[in-house]
Parts: sequence; C-alpha cells; structure tokens
Amino acid sequence: MTDMQHTKCLIIGSGPAGYTAAIYLVRSAIDCLLIEGLQVGGQLTQTTTIENFPGFPEGIDGFQLMDHMRQQAVNLGAKMRSGLVTGIDMSQRPFVVTLDGGEQMTADTVIVATGATAKYLGLPDETKYAGQGVSACATCDGFFYRKKVVAVVGGGDTACEEADYLSHLASKVYLIVRKDYLRASEAMQQRVKENEKIEILFNTNTVGLFGDNGVEGAHLVRFKGTDQEEMFDIAIDGFFLAIGHRPNTEFLGGQIDLDEQGYIKLEGHNTATNVEGVFAAGDVADPHYRQAIVAAAGGCRAAIDVKEYLNR
Ligand code: NDP
Repeated sequence: MTDMQHTKCLIIGSGPAGYTAAIYLVRSAIDCLLIEGLQVGGQLTQTTTIENFPGFPEGIDGFQLMDHMRQQAVNLGAKMRSGLVTGIDMSQRPFVVTLDGGEQMTADTVIVATGATAKYLGLPDETKYAGQGVSACATCDGFFYRKKVVAVVGGGDTACEEADYLSHLASKVYLIVRKDYLRASEAMQQRVKENEKIEILFNTNTVGLFGDNGVEGAHLVRFKGTDQEEMFDIAIDGFFLAIGHRPNTEFLGGQIDLDEQGYIKLEGHNTATNVEGVFAAGDVADPHYRQAIVAAAGGCRAAIDVKEYLNR
C-alpha cells in the first residue's frame, strides 16, 4: 500500500458538484484529487444554453459553463485525472480505490459526485437501432436529423427542451408523452405547445421501432390498457429518449445505503453517507431537485463536511 498515491479527499465525478467541491477543498488547503469519469464536465456538457444558472445574464452554453468551473478549480490548484473509479474498498482506512486499468490509490475521505445517466425504455429495438436512429442526447446527435422527422419520448423539462432544440433542425418533432399532461415547468410547456413544428402525442407509449436501414418509424399505442386502446405507427428518422436519469452508483458495490430508486441516502442534514468518511453531492444523491445550481451547492457542502470530518 505504501507505493500507492494517497490523497486526503478523492472526488469522483466532474459535474458541478465535483468541481465545486474541488474549488472549496483547495481553498481550504486540503489535498484532493478529482477523477473526471467518462464524460468530462458531466451532463451539462450535453445541453444547449443554460438560462437558470445565476451570474450569466444572457445564459451560457452548458459546455462552456463546465469548462469555466473546471478551469477555476485548476487555476486554484486542484488536481484532476481522467479515468473511471471501478471500486472502493470501504472496509479499511484509508479507503483503497481502484481505477479502470487496475491502478489503485488510497484516500482518507471520498466525495461521490458521479451524477446520473439517461434512462432507456428497455425495448429490444433501442439496442437494435443504437447509433442508427436511437439517441438519448439531442444536442449530441440532433445535427444528423436536419430536415428530417424525429420523436422525443418524455414529458419533463428535458423532453420539452430536447423537442424544442430539435425543432430548429428537424422538419417535424413528435413528443410522445405517456400521461395526458406534461410534467415540465410552465415556461417549457408553453414553449413546446406554441411551437408549430412539435406535435404532442398524449397518452401514448412506444412499443417498438421499425426500419430496414436504421429507424424508419415507431409502433405506438394510445390509451394502453383501456377499452380505447389503439395501435398506430409514425414515420420517423430519429428516436430520442428523455425519460429521466439513473444515479451512477453501481461501482459502490452495495457498500453505501441507497434509496429505492438507487440514489445515495444522506444521513441527517449534511452530505455524509452511512459510511464514515464517504460523502455524496449532486444528482447521485438528489432525487428531487436535480439542478446544476443545487449540485454545485452540494459540492460546496460536501467539501465543508470533509474539512470538518478531517479536523475531527
Ligand atoms: P423527469 O423525471 O422530470 O421527467 C421524466 C419524464 O419521462 C416524465 O414525463 C415521465 O412520465 C417520462 N417517463 C419516465 N419513464 C417513462 C417511460 N418508461 N415511458 C414513457 N415515459 C416515461 O426527468 P427530466 O430529465 O425531464 O428532468 C429531471 C429534472 O431536471 C427535473 O427536476 C427537471 O425539472 C430538471 N430539468 C431542468 C431543466 C431546466 O430548468 N432548464 C432542463 C432539464 C431538466 P411521467 O410524468 O408519466 O412520470
């Protein structure tokens, strides 16, 4: 164990929570190392303009916001590494952390800020057409659907935002909503309802996709399970999932208490988990707010909690 790199605090994840934690820790002169994961900058790098993060009167591009946060942490002296954490042995102190590639390091404390990943419906056709018309990121893949017809699944803010974004590229956008209402904020609902290129299909579920050369259409069912149930098809070139996210906690191997949806449970009013020395911040521990500003605040709280824990 003596040859392993050691840090006082290992931060896992490079979203607003992880970067903010790093900023606070280095400013408290606590040695920390941030492991950036597969998607450097996290979910916000996949969105377009962010209008609700304070400090940017004209809004800011998601990628740019995350790049600023990263740069701020680096300028203050935070250490970052690319790579994935594949496991943490929490039965010993310091914790032994394993990275992809097998390298191991030790840490006195850990802040889990691994965020969440897009959910899929679980249809075999989503796998069949992966990369051939199925996507969970309009910002990444929308470009390929210029002047084409696409569908977005979901009724939340993400689905509405993606439908709106795609409507500026595609010739038509279906928004497939399983209930008879949208869950999105009033402002987003209005934007979608006023957009002539978007057709909302309420009470509708997707049962499959079809096409010989990638996605050419979707099999849908309206009023599923009722006597009004009706099957119909729509012709589409792209199928976008926007039905929420799953917290990234698998690598914890069941050592941390999770709620029934898989989010990390926090003990009391701080960011401590049930394992002493392990803290959590951001979407991985937030089934409710799931906002960048809340994640950033969580990172700040976790850094302060780590400082207090180390002082004790
Ligand atoms: P949400 O959980 O808010 O919405 C998910 C949507 O997908 C719901 O309409 C849900 O339907 C639907 N859905 C879930 N599972 C299925 C399924 N199996 N089949 C069909 N539909 C399904 O997730 P979002 O990603 O939209 O938003 C997450 C959080 O992030 C929210 O708090 C949101 O406000 C926030 N956000 C804020 C933004 C902003 O302010 N600019 C932008 C994007 C997100 P149902 O309603 O029936 O459950």
